[in-house]
Amino acid sequence: MIKTTGIATTTIEPFADADEAAASADADPAAARRQIIRTDRALTDPRLAAAVRRHGRPAVRQALRDAQQEARRGAISPDQVVRHTADLVDRRAEGVRSVINATGVLLHTNLGRAVLSAPARRALERAAGCIDIEYDLESGRRDRRGRAALEALAAAVPAAGAVHVVNNNAAALILASAALASGREVVISRGEMVEIGAGFRLTDLVAAAGARLVEVGTTNRTSLADYAAAVWSGTGFILKVHPSNYRIDGFTSQVDVGALAGLGAPVVVDIGSGLLGPEQVLPDEPDADTALRAGAALVTASGDKLLGGPQAGLLLGHREVIAELRRHPMARAVRVDKLTLAALEATVRCPPTPTQQALRTTVDELRARAETIVGRLTAADVPAAVTDTTAAIGGGGAPGVRLPSCAISVPQHLSRPLRRQPIAVVGRVRDGRLLLDMRSVPAELDEVVTAAVLRAATSPAGQSPDEPGRPTPMAVERR
Ligand SMILES: *Cc1c(COP(=O)(O)O)cnc(C)c1O
Repeated sequence: MIKTTGIATTTIEPFADADEAAASADADPAAARRQIIRTDRALTDPRLAAAVRRHGRPAVRQALRDAQQEARRGAISPDQVVRHTADLVDRRAEGVRSVINATGVLLHTNLGRAVLSAPARRALERAAGCIDIEYDLESGRRDRRGRAALEALAAAVPAAGAVHVVNNNAAALILASAALASGREVVISRGEMVEIGAGFRLTDLVAAAGARLVEVGTTNRTSLADYAAAVWSGTGFILKVHPSNYRIDGFTSQVDVGALAGLGAPVVVDIGSGLLGPEQVLPDEPDADTALRAGAALVTASGDKLLGGPQAGLLLGHREVIAELRRHPMARAVRVDKLTLAALEATVRCPPTPTQQALRTTVDELRARAETIVGRLTAADVPAAVTDTTAAIGGGGAPGVRLPSCAISVPQHLSRPLRRQPIAVVGRVRDGRLLLDMRSVPAELDEVVTAAVLRAATSPAGQSPDEPGRPTPMAVERR
């Protein structure tokens, strides 16, 4: 089993948890075992013969072994083994599984962060073939790579003289450090030395690019004088990092971009979240346009956080600075692929994104959706109720922000069967109930959620409340 922070993935799970096996063991396990179809007989079933033609014998044998194992521990009944094997082998051939994020964390890193908009999905589909990524169809000549995406981004951030896109924000920072501060110093406040998750620290990243870090101020307070004392001709840039996954409250002070810009060294601002302009719902979240207007030479951000696009690192800034980044040899190593550029362009050109919609939806709209679903569940005798919750942004954005929300509350033991649906549904457990938070579920998926709960509730595991199920805690947010 692959275990990540907080959420247990469900895809490949050859062995049952010991407690589950114990809970569901038949009164006469040997009798149940005898009913499980044997491998040689199962392989003669036309459904599995067809699966062998599609995916090959080894894959089908492995899926069959896993299905037999599930029947042995009572997760499926013996007569479901063949059908389950056929489903498993098809599903595994497709690789990644679709998940509906009902955790109430809008940008969940474990679930792939932002949900792409319909135009971005269509762009991805087109980009799967050959596209004019680096080619001008008018002249028939080579063109700047990703020109259309870069132009869309530049148009969305009027204060940027030029823009560039790399693999992710970490790559943006390492490129900026290598190009602007290799062998020189990067000045940073001790209150902004961020660990972005899984043990990765931004300061290590800057150092790995050959820059020397100069820490100024204290954890809670840093003044303009602290920065001024550290800046000299050997300074590559001043780095201002948005504390996007923690908050420092109380006796605090930071220096804003405008004041830092007066110190003579370029100011690089890592805003993290990827807001291109101000967002009314999140008045305290920094945005690229405002930071550039305040005097930043360069802003870096992620594409798959609040921007709501694909994983990408955005670099927006002064024309000469961007030109220097583009020329650096490392730029080629962090070059972004055509799929990302296509999806990014559509994300920027065609708002609103699902992330923006999730942010802006009112709690009344969420409650109405939850009530409709609960009505259908209770009509089918599934014990469900509507309950108030609070949702969070997650994914390294707006750490203190709590969004009022609404959830469908169902019995906790449905967590596992729901994660095992063809389109998995992942919620969170609170007080012995599984909550499916509506704010992180796109409205067009309400039907799918309803069907998944109905199916999960009638599956063998869904009908045995003594099966403990694996709690799906609200993940400790990793960015
Ligand atoms: C999320 C985040 C990063 C890392 O961005 P990736 O796109 O995941 O590489 C860096 N800095 C800040 C402030 C962040 O919030």
